[in-house]
Amino acid sequence: MINPFYQRARKCTATALRLKYSAYYDSFDKQAGSRVWQDGKEMIMLSSNDYLGLTHHPRVVEAAQKALEQWGASSTGARLANGSRSYHEALEEKLADFLGVEACHITISGYTGCMSAICGFAQRGDLVLADKNIHSSLWSGIALSGAKLERFSHNNPADLEEALAHESKDIAKMLVIEGIYSMEGHICPLPDFLEVARKHNCFTVLDDAHGLGVLGIEGRGTASHFGLSSKSLDITCGSFSKSLASTGGFIAGDQYLIEYMKSHARPAIFSAALSPAQVAAASTALDILQEEPEHLQKLWENVDRYNAILQDLKLDTWESQTPAIPIVLGSKDRAYFFWKALKEKGIFTIISVAPGVPPGKDLIRTAISARHTDEDFEKIEEALRYASKKI
Ligand code: PMP
Repeated sequence: MINPFYQRARKCTATALRLKYSAYYDSFDKQAGSRVWQDGKEMIMLSSNDYLGLTHHPRVVEAAQKALEQWGASSTGARLANGSRSYHEALEEKLADFLGVEACHITISGYTGCMSAICGFAQRGDLVLADKNIHSSLWSGIALSGAKLERFSHNNPADLEEALAHESKDIAKMLVIEGIYSMEGHICPLPDFLEVARKHNCFTVLDDAHGLGVLGIEGRGTASHFGLSSKSLDITCGSFSKSLASTGGFIAGDQYLIEYMKSHARPAIFSAALSPAQVAAASTALDILQEEPEHLQKLWENVDRYNAILQDLKLDTWESQTPAIPIVLGSKDRAYFFWKALKEKGIFTIISVAPGVPPGKDLIRTAISARHTDEDFEKIEEALRYASKKI
């Protein structure tokens, strides 16, 4: 008798389709600036989260090299046990200061950090209210918490209010939202959400993985974008794998909340500490955000330039307000042929189709970086014209 796990793996349609169309898990042989190479072919990377283009910044690379030499490749242990080092604590202090909150805890990945931001606080018997478009890490945190879940429609504080109207005053409530939704490029209407949260005594968790480095003064994130302090949130979490040119994640808020989370969030407690080189890269990127404003400025200039091209071609960008810019094509076939035509012309993007996106919103995910050059935009425009004719 065939083992049911093997049977499941052999019969999986999603996997068979993915392999047939070779649409995911692309691998590159080389990377430099905004370019990547696959089987010797040079392509412009138009879907990276390296928004500020800092992954090759000489200061970032040098800091990571130095940390590697000084501390070795890994701390080989969990923070709780033998993995904590002074460089973790230094970055935690720096990031807490940058966000204007009391404390911060850094984790091995953004996924672990964002999961922990929820399951480190919510528990069975609580109610979590979540925007229906939040990231997988947040759904995982909710599932692990055992709390009851109520979804509300995307970026819709009125719908949240409606959901809350039917709930008991006595139940502990958590609101989970993102600063920038990276598939749609939307910014959350934070002040409106906070007003509803305050009225209903909701503990608010904001995943600002894509807002950090991109929005607000010196890239301080979504709260800063709205002229608010991160203290107006209960917890901010996020990732170092976007603007901060590294890997790792964080959870930030009041000191006693972070200490509480460190006793309760299993993903943060039982995974290894972030490696020295990754901490050094994120820490230096954080300095660069404050000392070299030209990267953030260039990012937004590039976003304007790219949007002008997309508008000229009458492509649907789902009203993106940020450097994460989808091109909505409306069906799996159209998205596939558009994506393929761009790749043929040397532009690398990511395809996302239902059920990953709502039906009718099948799209190509593109993202702009401060590293994109004039020459890149000329090539991108030509390729987009070509792809538009192919569908
Ligand atoms: N939250 C959001 C909104 C994300 O987009 C991501 C990464 N795509 C994560 C969390 C997880 O971050 P990481 O990739 O660093 O694990």
